[in-house]
Amino acid sequence: MAINTRILLAARPDGPPKPDDFRIEDAPVPEPAEGEILLKILYLSLDPYMRGRMSAAKSYAAPVEIGAVMEGGTVARVEKSRHPHYAEGDIVLSHSGWQSYALSDGRGLRKLDPAVAPVSTALGVLGMPGFTAWSGLLIIGQPKPGETVVVAAASGAVGSVVGQIARIRGARTVGIAGGEEKCAWVRDELGFDAAVDHRAPDFERQLAAACPDGIDVYFENVGGKVWDAVFPLLNTYARVPVCGLISAYNARPGENGGQDRLPGFFRAVLTRSLQVRGFIQREFADRFPEFHREAAHWIASGQLRYREDIVDGLANAPQSFIGLLEGRNFGKLLIRVSHEGGIQSGVHSIGIVTPL
Ligand code: NAP
Repeated sequence: MAINTRILLAARPDGPPKPDDFRIEDAPVPEPAEGEILLKILYLSLDPYMRGRMSAAKSYAAPVEIGAVMEGGTVARVEKSRHPHYAEGDIVLSHSGWQSYALSDGRGLRKLDPAVAPVSTALGVLGMPGFTAWSGLLIIGQPKPGETVVVAAASGAVGSVVGQIARIRGARTVGIAGGEEKCAWVRDELGFDAAVDHRAPDFERQLAAACPDGIDVYFENVGGKVWDAVFPLLNTYARVPVCGLISAYNARPGENGGQDRLPGFFRAVLTRSLQVRGFIQREFADRFPEFHREAAHWIASGQLRYREDIVDGLANAPQSFIGLLEGRNFGKLLIRVSHEGGIQSGVHSIGIVTPL
């Protein structure tokens, strides 16, 4: 008999999440009512924003309640349908969370065509992270040919796309990543002009050397000491799309206090005419079709490459998520919840670069 395995939020983390903050539970697979479909989850996306959902602190989205299924984007196959618009076997993008089955009334689903692209890409390069990169860089960052664009977390789901689009637009691209292996991939496989390891003891010096003309666009994914190294290098009129601050996501209240950087920050905003603009990708949702067309074209032409870090088994989601916040993923982190699905052959395994 099929079982619905679900991963619930058991406790709100104090600092970095621990395995005990999650609880795995088996439940019966639900039956769809009239107008509903039963989804069998194939892939679950693990994303840094989930750390925010585990916290009760006020944010742009409501937290997951204690005892509720962890939230998350998914690719699923329609297992049973009592809905006029969906048939058994359809593959859809859904937001079904950390579980192996889910019911849906069809709202918010997007049908995927496995012939167009591997369906897992709807959670990465052709989905929310890719769109985040595209919208933040092009709408806010607006790189011009010859300018220097720097991106942090450069081997990840968002950063890898930011750097490649900047390169396509004729900018000089510099990635910041953790460790030589990630830096080599960003440089040699993705074609960034330079990559700098933020763990190197002389990181600041290496970054300055990689940006001899300063920085015109800094796509912020990390914050903390990476920001401290970037900040003095920002040119007059530099643009800073603030996308994420992952280095602080595990901080306890009051941590990361340190010195008061605000006066220096505002002085630079004023005297160097900086534009610092935070964003959540969904504010640009009406541009998604434009992004999708452009990104699919770039992938097909080999200009945009991606890497998926696929971990097998829903039970591995908590450890994998904890690792994401420590830089242990290499590329877009996905959980393969089920091997079934009749999806295209050649489903990727961990760490394989898969141009379409
Ligand atoms: P990702 O880059 O695939 O994975 C996270 C990476 O962050 C890790 O692999 C690690 O890479 C780096 N990292 C973790 N802790 C770090 C630390 N203390 N210092 C420096 N680097 C650290 O994740 P992603 O999905 O692409 O997300 C990247 C950023 O974009 C996150 O901040 C996320 O919250 C943000 N985001 C924002 C939006 C939005 O709408 N604003 C949407 C999606 C994502 P290294 O090993 O290279 O350090």
